[in-house]
This record gives sequence, structure tokens and C-alpha cells, in this order.
Amino acid sequence: MNTIKKHPQLDGDIGWYEMSPYKDEILGKTHSGQSNYDFVIIGAGYTGMATASRLAEHYPQSKIAIVEALRVGQGASGRNSGYVVDLPLSAVGDNINASKEQQSFALNKFAIECLREKVNAHNLAVDWCDSGKYAAIHETKHIPILNNFARMLDAINEPYERLDQAESTTRLGTEFYTHSIYTQGMVVVNPASLIMGLAKILPNNVDLFENAPVRRIDLDGTPTLHFDHGSICAGKLVFAANAFNESLKAGNNRIAPMITYSSITRPLSGKELEAFKGINEYAIRSAHAAGTSIRFTADKRLLIRNSIRAALMDNRKAFNKARQKHQQSLVNRFPHLAHAGFEYTWSGNICITLNKDPLFEQIGEHTYSVAGMNGAGVAKGTYLGHYMADFIAGVESPELSFIQQHSQPSWVPPEPFRHIGASLAAGYEEYSAGKDV
Ligand SMILES: Cc1cc2nc3c(=O)[nH]c(=O)nc-3n(C[C@H](O)[C@H](O)[C@H](O)COP(=O)(O)OP(=O)(O)OC[C@H]3O[C@@H](n4cnc5c(N)ncnc54)[C@H](O)[C@@H]3O)c2cc1C
Repeated sequence: MNTIKKHPQLDGDIGWYEMSPYKDEILGKTHSGQSNYDFVIIGAGYTGMATASRLAEHYPQSKIAIVEALRVGQGASGRNSGYVVDLPLSAVGDNINASKEQQSFALNKFAIECLREKVNAHNLAVDWCDSGKYAAIHETKHIPILNNFARMLDAINEPYERLDQAESTTRLGTEFYTHSIYTQGMVVVNPASLIMGLAKILPNNVDLFENAPVRRIDLDGTPTLHFDHGSICAGKLVFAANAFNESLKAGNNRIAPMITYSSITRPLSGKELEAFKGINEYAIRSAHAAGTSIRFTADKRLLIRNSIRAALMDNRKAFNKARQKHQQSLVNRFPHLAHAGFEYTWSGNICITLNKDPLFEQIGEHTYSVAGMNGAGVAKGTYLGHYMADFIAGVESPELSFIQQHSQPSWVPPEPFRHIGASLAAGYEEYSAGKDV
């Protein structure tokens, strides 16, 4: 019997959740008593939702359950920056594997189109915007990273625009960025609305249980999950809790949980918007992996995301420090907004693997684990969940083979060495990002 020691918690005010039109809707049930399901998925994030929906297509007569510790939209899937990425977000190295990049790109595009179809078919209010993305830098020492990114785009024949400081300033309303590359395919959303929207349209044979943290798991015989009030027996069990797969003992020493932070301003108005005249919603991802992400939203707010530290659970001191850093990053880019302040600040988990491969495998006779989204789980979780369901159902495809070939995360040392190593790496990355934080 595994006793789960660490559970998800609310960390700050989750801006996207608070602003979502679905916030007050009841999307899930409360679990009590003893029940049986053919399939149970732990985690109502993008991965869990996609797994459940696809399983429901393969097994329309089966009973499927998703169990979620918080409310849907309050986990990392509702806390992210809402970038539904088509291309790898961060810099690529010198050795470009064009075929691998192309196939990952195709899978991301597949995920985007699956999500688009659902949003359109059900008229979900998720603030969908085909914004594209700016990979941008302030520090000219990072130009080689942008060059590598451009080489990767050339290798996969993906069009892009390379912008100098003047053009970046016209497009972004700040002189901060000396160089940027714009690509068209990324989508931005309110991520909490999107995940709650997906919960609203779950197939009829899927039951969603919210506020249902799994406290203990018995894997002897039929997997059984124990909650505060009752238990569920699972014919097959899928761990789709990303960073928390670690605490659920489904990480197989190959994932490292990290925390990152976001703040969002109130809607800007009047003189504050002068620098943004003629500028529509946009999304910037620093070309440096540890740099700051910035979103200018349709309702004229600015989102700042930066600071990464090695941990599963957040603490107040680190939270306050990150919020101060957000203020500095805002002022560095938009000095005239120093007074604007943040309406919401929150933190959430990402789950890193050493070689960037996700974890995607059967870990026991009746158990499966999907994790290690490496900070890009909106699209990646959507396609990995879809193909995990295919894997369980025995449905083969070139896409599933590709995923299986590229889901061999390297071994990471156990605690406390993992924490020390990940902290040192995060500290070094942030230092090397310089003013791009
Ligand atoms: C601030 C921030 C910004 C980010 N920006 C982006 C971005 O712009 N684009 C992008 O693609 N990714 C981004 N990410 C990463 C992205 O949020 C994750 O990759 C994504 O949420 C992973 O989805 P998932 O479904 O695999 O896991 P999660 O979203 O983490 O879902 C797992 C769920 O499992 C639940 N759970 C955990 N333990 C238990 C338990 N014991 N019992 C029951 N339920 C449990 C959790 O509450 C959680 O809701 C960001 C993350 C953060 C924190």
C-alpha cells in the first residue's frame, strides 16, 4: 500500500481560473463509498482529459473515471501561460534532428487541431487566439540561440520572420527586445477555461471526481485508490499527474518536479496603452530557456512568467521573491507600467526530464504512467494522453511508435541529490539568461 505524502495545493490566486466564465460551474462529482471502474485516470489536466476522451471512443460501453485532487482548472493545466505550442519553446542545440523535430511538430499540430475542433464544435469560451509566437532576446550574447532556432525552422521548412529591434518594438510595444523570430502556428488561450471547457464536454461514460485527492494506492491485485471518503477499484489505472506522478510513486526515478511562477496585471487603460497602439494580443517566449515569457492579452493585461526552482511544493518566501522578480521584469520592459501592479500571482508545477523525453509507459500489469511534459504540456499532454489510450487499447500507428521510441527519459538520482542537482542547474540557467529574465 502506497501512502501519498504530498498533495496538490492552491498556490496564490490562480488568475486564469479567477477570470474564467466557467469558474462557478459544477463540473465534477464528489466521490464517496466504494465503486468500480474499468479505467481510472489520476489527474484532470490536459493529459488526463485526453486519455479519458480517447478511451471513451475505444470503449464506449466501459466505465471511466478521472479523479482530481483540486477543482478542474486549479491544477497546473489551469495555471500555465496558455501557450498551446506548435514548435519547441526553448532553444535547440547544435545537432538538429530534422525528422524528430518534424514529427514532434506534427504531433503538436495534431493536438492543436483536436483542441480547436472541440472548442469550435461546443462553442467553448476559452479566449482562443491564433497569435503565433515571438521567440525574443534582449541580450545579444543569446543571438546564437536564435540562430539555432532559425536553423531548426529551416530544417523543417517552417516559415518565420526575423525581426530587428526596430521591428520588434513596433510589434511588441517595447524597445527591450533586440532580436526576435516570429512564427505563426502557436495558439494562446485562457488555459483554465480550456481545461474546464474540456471537462464540460467529457463523454457520457466518463465520471469526473473533483476535490478527490488520492491518499493511498493499493497495487496488490486490482489497483485500488483510497480517498478521504471511500475508494475506487480500477480495472486499469493511468497516472496522469505529471509532477505529482513522483509523489504517487509512478515516476520511476526519471522525472524532476519544478515550480514556476506567473503574475498578471489588471486590464491596462488610457495612457498605459499608448505604447500598444495598433498592437493586438501577442505572446513572447524568451529564446533562452530560463528567460521571461510575456503575454499581452485581448483584454489588455500583461502576463509575466519566470523563475524556476526545484521543488514539488511551493513556499511563501520563494513565492514573494518570484513576485518581486515579476515586477522587475515588467519594469525592465515597460518602465511606464511600474505602478500598474499585479492583480493575480500564482505558482504551479512543471515536470522536467533530463533528456527532454516524456515518460510514457506501462509500469505494472494494470498500470500506466504519463509525465515529464517539460513545461509544454498543453499540446504535449493532449497528444500523449490520446496515444496513451491507443496504447492501452492496442491501436498501433506510426505516431504511437514515434512516441514510444522517444519516451526514454534518463535516470535522475534520488533525493536529496536530485534536488541539489536540479537547483544548481536552474540557478545556472537563470544566471546565464542574464537580463532576459
Ligand atoms: C506558471 C506555469 C506556466 C506554464 N506555461 C505553459 C505554457 O504556456 N504552455 C504549456 O504547454 N505548458 C505550460 N506549463 C506547463 C503545463 O502547465 C504542464 O505541462 C501541464 O499542465 C501538464 O499537464 P498534465 O495534464 O500532464 O498535468 P497537470 O496539469 O499537472 O495535471 C495533473 C493533475 O493531477 C492532480 N493530482 C496530483 N496529485 C493528485 C492526487 N494525489 N490525487 C488526485 N489528483 C492529483 C493535480 O491536481 C493536477 O490537476 C506551465 C506551467 C506553469 C506552472
